[in-house]
Amino acid sequence: MKKIQLVNFCSCLIFIANFFPFSRLSAQDDQTTEIRINDLIKKMTLEEKVAMIHANSAFTSGSVDRLGIPGLTMSDGPNGVRPEQGKYWVQTEKLLDSGTYLPPGVCLAATWNPELGYDFGSVLGSEANYRGKDIILGPGINIIRSPLNGRNFEYQSEDPYLVSKMVVGYIKGVQDQGISACVKHFAGNNQETLRNSIDVQMSERALREIYLPGFKAAVTEAHVNTLMGAYNKFRGQWCTHNDYLINKILKTEWKFDGIQISDWGAVHSTPEALTNGTDLEMGTDLSMLPNPNYHKFFLGDTVISLVRNGVFPESLIDEKVRRILRIMYRTHVLDKKRKPGSYNTKEHQHTALKIAEEGIVLLKNEDHILPLSLSSVKKIAVIGYNASRLQSMGGGSSQVKAFYEITPLQGLKNLVGNKIDITYSQGYIIKRNAKADAGLISQASDAASKADVAIVVCGWTHGFNYQVWDDNAYDAESVDKPDMIMPFGQDELVKAVLKANPKTIVVLMGGGALDMNQWIDQTKGIIQAWYPGMEGGNALAKIIFGEVNPSGKLPMSWPKKLEDDGAHKLGEFPGNGTTVNYKDDIYVGYRYYDTYQIEPQFAFGHGLSYTNFEFSSLNIQAGNNQATVSFTVKNTGKMAGAEVAQVYVKQVKSSLPRPEKELKGFSKIFLEPGEKKLVVIKLDETSFQYYNDKEGRWVLEPSLFKILIGNSSRAIKLTGDLNL
Ligand code: BGC
Repeated sequence: MKKIQLVNFCSCLIFIANFFPFSRLSAQDDQTTEIRINDLIKKMTLEEKVAMIHANSAFTSGSVDRLGIPGLTMSDGPNGVRPEQGKYWVQTEKLLDSGTYLPPGVCLAATWNPELGYDFGSVLGSEANYRGKDIILGPGINIIRSPLNGRNFEYQSEDPYLVSKMVVGYIKGVQDQGISACVKHFAGNNQETLRNSIDVQMSERALREIYLPGFKAAVTEAHVNTLMGAYNKFRGQWCTHNDYLINKILKTEWKFDGIQISDWGAVHSTPEALTNGTDLEMGTDLSMLPNPNYHKFFLGDTVISLVRNGVFPESLIDEKVRRILRIMYRTHVLDKKRKPGSYNTKEHQHTALKIAEEGIVLLKNEDHILPLSLSSVKKIAVIGYNASRLQSMGGGSSQVKAFYEITPLQGLKNLVGNKIDITYSQGYIIKRNAKADAGLISQASDAASKADVAIVVCGWTHGFNYQVWDDNAYDAESVDKPDMIMPFGQDELVKAVLKANPKTIVVLMGGGALDMNQWIDQTKGIIQAWYPGMEGGNALAKIIFGEVNPSGKLPMSWPKKLEDDGAHKLGEFPGNGTTVNYKDDIYVGYRYYDTYQIEPQFAFGHGLSYTNFEFSSLNIQAGNNQATVSFTVKNTGKMAGAEVAQVYVKQVKSSLPRPEKELKGFSKIFLEPGEKKLVVIKLDETSFQYYNDKEGRWVLEPSLFKILIGNSSRAIKLTGDLNL
């Protein structure tokens, strides 16, 4: 009798859960699901369980058909659903897999607009869902520690607070579409050089203050369903089966209840993967066609014999299967009652446009060289390979086959129509170690001298990666940049064009900083365009002509030269061949530049607008270990625009040294000309704490704090005191 009642009660809950498929379930619903999961596990053979914990093709895990349990289907990546790879990485032709190509993570972070993070995630989730995926392998949120990391374009920021704020919206956006996000790569994967072997050493304080907060927010605030363990080692043990990172921090401290997926081929030991928290081993089966041997993976047949021989208890496997089933229930993999996704909609393309418009950063604008006027400019010389190059298939696993991609050249042509004459010269060739091409430079200078304005679109280039080596792999997986100098003789090109026409705008593409020393002083207008996605060219053109007022802010510091950077000056990059020691500790990015008083080329948080903003009326209300900060921002110029008000906290005296200042709040405010708004930002106790690694805990020391409000980490407009 009791049993029947329970069944009815359960089916009622299940009905409710199905009716509201995308809200998080209540504790009771969770309990019901756990009961069903345990029932399923009891019905499974050991072989069936083991099939579920390793890959059975490049992007799927094993199924248990007898019990109606499908495998999980995954796809890269962080800024669009990757083209189909076929079962064994052989790309399948003639598929409808050209989708929305969003601007990669660094451009999203440069918007400093968490709402766009949510919109970004929604597009990605919806398209992944449409394409039949259960898990999308993003966001990538490793800290930008050095300008050289080839994957910085995929990541977001040097600052853990900014990452934490952007990542929560992204993940919720994806998961509200009914599929799982997969935050990656946990943890300390801050370089590509030797990523498959390097042992990352860092202090506990650096780990807690810099490298973990984004992941912690992903787990505890966004409730991410899956997380990818990194390739590298952390303190001597592989990240994907790292007892400290996975068992102690992720699963115990943060109570992560989802699936820890290995990076592709990141598992190295069956016993460690079994005991240290790897739930699903993914990777490429190198035996490939015709007989892939996925069952020979570390979490394959060996597990069966180890359990059968009593070396490990079956409960270890049950726990992994339980986590996989839990996420399957949560995302309707089993009952297939997921709402349908959508693909290549106008709304998705509009989101790509918005992110580019808000993420592109105006770095320099002397003598109001920008915006250009449609009525007074008659002829523009567009110069540089990056003006016409398609970028979407670059980068390695984050490649996207774009439904379309508007290049800078196309975007400018779209905007000016027949009102302005546009010429194009390539300017340089893309080939590793290529020197400046005298013929191309002279063509470009000639065109520049005959135009009213020259726009040089240059910078880094995407390639695939070293496995599919091409000469363009600077911003790409598996490779770091050799230095901060623009490749292919582009500095020579920029200098020559500037000489031919001082009215030259430099537009930079790429994942981050490059050395501008040879031409910055002579250049009046500089724009950082990142890789701006499928609508990037349109967004860029609108900014150049003032149809959109730029509002992007750098999510990383921009050093004058590589040697100035903290990771290189205090720390090691890329290490000694086996180990990399993060001696730069907590002094990453502006924490380094500001504490050590090194002048960056452009500060963290910097980004210009075509209008001006005035900050006033700072008010600080102290609470119990917290504070409320309010101030007014007014648009004093003639054009509508947005400002990012940034709140930094500085502890004046502390037992352990602290950085000069740390970002603890921000708000992006849109203002019409003359309009002003009151900004209110709450600072909770985490805003004042630091990790005391001598005591092994976060501490808030009673002290005088300075509250610094500005529109970059180096443009502080208001300062106030706070005693806690
Ligand atoms: C990358 C991951 C990616 C995976 C699958 C790995 O090489 O590091 O970010 O998700 O491949 O393509």
